[in-house]
Amino acid sequence: MPFDDPRDFCAHLEERGELIRIRDEVDPAYEVGAYIRKTSDQQGPALLFENVKGHDMCMVGGIFASRRRVLLALAYDREDIYERFGHGIANPVPNRLVDTGPCKDVILKGDGVDLGRLPIPIYSEQDKGPFVTHGIQISKDPEDGTKNASIYRMHLAGKREFSIHAEKHHHLTYQHVKASAKGEPLEIAVAMGCDPVVMLATQVGASYGVDELEIAGGLKGKPVDIVKCETVDLEVPAATEIVFEGLLHPERREHHGPFGEYSGYYGEITHSPIMEVTAITHRRDPVYHAGLTGMPMTENHFLKQIPHEVTLHQELKSKFPGLRDIHSTAAGCCDFMVFINLKPNIPGEARNVILAAMASAKRPKFVVVCDEDIDIFDHTQVLWAISTRVRPAKDVIIIPDYNTPALDPSVGQNQLGSAMGLDATRPFGEPFAEVPAFRGMDRVPDLLALMRAGQS
Ligand code: MN
Repeated sequence: MPFDDPRDFCAHLEERGELIRIRDEVDPAYEVGAYIRKTSDQQGPALLFENVKGHDMCMVGGIFASRRRVLLALAYDREDIYERFGHGIANPVPNRLVDTGPCKDVILKGDGVDLGRLPIPIYSEQDKGPFVTHGIQISKDPEDGTKNASIYRMHLAGKREFSIHAEKHHHLTYQHVKASAKGEPLEIAVAMGCDPVVMLATQVGASYGVDELEIAGGLKGKPVDIVKCETVDLEVPAATEIVFEGLLHPERREHHGPFGEYSGYYGEITHSPIMEVTAITHRRDPVYHAGLTGMPMTENHFLKQIPHEVTLHQELKSKFPGLRDIHSTAAGCCDFMVFINLKPNIPGEARNVILAAMASAKRPKFVVVCDEDIDIFDHTQVLWAISTRVRPAKDVIIIPDYNTPALDPSVGQNQLGSAMGLDATRPFGEPFAEVPAFRGMDRVPDLLALMRAGQS
């Protein structure tokens, strides 16, 4: 069963050896970032920091720093993701309003609000300061009440202030612009330390009008329990570790950034709106949830990966029945480089798939289509297919002026990028060199296990 409480998920990870406790003192300024960077680079465990310098709050980081742990969060097998995750997206379940929940153990309002008491990490060397990266911003359309939940980064701007970065096309910006046009602030609640399915549901890229918390319900097959906020007319998941409530101002802004982003580079410095924090509510002995982004692969990439793969699969499968797997590569920042498996049914179909993928909401910059014998989750096999099946003069499609994913550092602000498709399938209906097979592979023992047994 998927998890309802972030603590149950962490306990499950610890039981499986996927989470370890760090008892040495670790500083939220830079050291936490360095630890999560290292475990991300090693595809290592999630980290529970028990001794955070200057704070009595524990911190967890790197929860999603591997695809393996995302599958554990969903309790899915790899082959189930399209059907089960796709079913969840297509069948949202309304939330269930409950009277109270763990996130109300402690309620701080007015003078009791002091963001300096939280161990908010400074991640990369040139980051402007501390950033909250794993908060889910929950807000409502000021006109029709449409709910939205997504993850945006927040810079600690004062004792009771954050600035929040959302792109122009993001749903939070849409609601903020509407409220600002009336000269009013937008009410906002930030839920940090949610269960892993709620986190994944925010990454689906749902259309405006769809409440991502209801998608989380769809993925779980039961409602998400929500509770009313104290100072704003919004609801948050009841099992959240820490909730920030407040107002996103119509006028007040600050220079937000630099911040090391998911493209693996520092992004542009933006002029982002200020959230005035009106209340903090939290669980007893709250656990701060840190989340690293930066050069792939990090938990930011793995959080987006399966939601993006499934939504692109849904978009393409109805048009191309020979479509098998889709892989939004973590190394390719998820949306920059996408690999697709196809059993072509007609000549040139791989080229149609490339163009359809480029026309999708994710706007990938590189699309590689491989035959069904290639495991597209194995980058070596994909590079082999490109090396041996692509005829560069014939099988490459270049789209010169194209809107590539946000934060592509090779594209200047307000400029168009370009895209490339590689048809790495064998020429349709023509003879092609055969791949050698080996006899008796099934009778050879697991040699890595033998080696490990020999070492112990
Ligand atoms: Mn949305």
